[in-house]
Amino acid sequence: MRKKVIAGNWKMNKVLSEANAFVEEVAEKAKINDSVETIVCAPYPYLASLVEKAKGSQVKISAQNMHFEENGAFTGEVSPVMLSDLGVTHVVLGHSERREYFAETDETVNKKTHAAFNHDLTPIVCVGETLEQREANETMNHVGNQVTKALEGLSNEQVAETIVAYEPIWAIGTGKTASSEDANEVCSHIRNVIKDITSDETAEKVVIQYGGSVKPANIKELLSQSDIDGALVGGASLEADSFLQLVEAGT
Ligand code: PGA
Repeated sequence: MRKKVIAGNWKMNKVLSEANAFVEEVAEKAKINDSVETIVCAPYPYLASLVEKAKGSQVKISAQNMHFEENGAFTGEVSPVMLSDLGVTHVVLGHSERREYFAETDETVNKKTHAAFNHDLTPIVCVGETLEQREANETMNHVGNQVTKALEGLSNEQVAETIVAYEPIWAIGTGKTASSEDANEVCSHIRNVIKDITSDETAEKVVIQYGGSVKPANIKELLSQSDIDGALVGGASLEADSFLQLVEAGT
């Protein structure tokens, strides 16, 4: 039985006091529950403080990106060593906004996936197609390639621990959600691709999230699908109330 994993991706939002208040509230109210994992993906400057606020609670703290090198002359970058040292447990890799605006490629995502495992961080690897790709029937091929490239060179044990987030780009921040059947079809395809590159047993362990305009009103339906094991949520994760409802839906 796979766990449900609900991750809130704040993107570039909130100031420190708001971030602290949010995690304090969610840490207090989200019941410790083995069937759901609760992750807050916050901007770098808040991570140290949020790890402290989340201690002893259900909440885990994630970064939204990182560099793949451990240290060095990379002005402005943050390394896996730094994140791990702070007590951060997860890192979002290859979000479509990073691919589109910050030149993230399948190759850098793969390097970062390896770097994450080298430093005890669980990667949340984002994949997804554009509207043009969907209309040209390229979704399965494109998403399958992104998954294959991101996971290249990992051991089966590492793949089993990776979280894959399927986020159709046309559904991110647009209010348009993929239908739960369409989302599940792609998530099943992702699991099959992982089967091909690893083993049935490994693929059955991988948590696959859906992301793209998930909100309290549609999360239950999405989570009821066979291959959707959680959600990566932007807009609806910004308010603690709404985020708590999403976490509750996963229990
Ligand atoms: P959204 O963002 O929930 O606001 O659509 C999802 C994401 O980008 O992870």
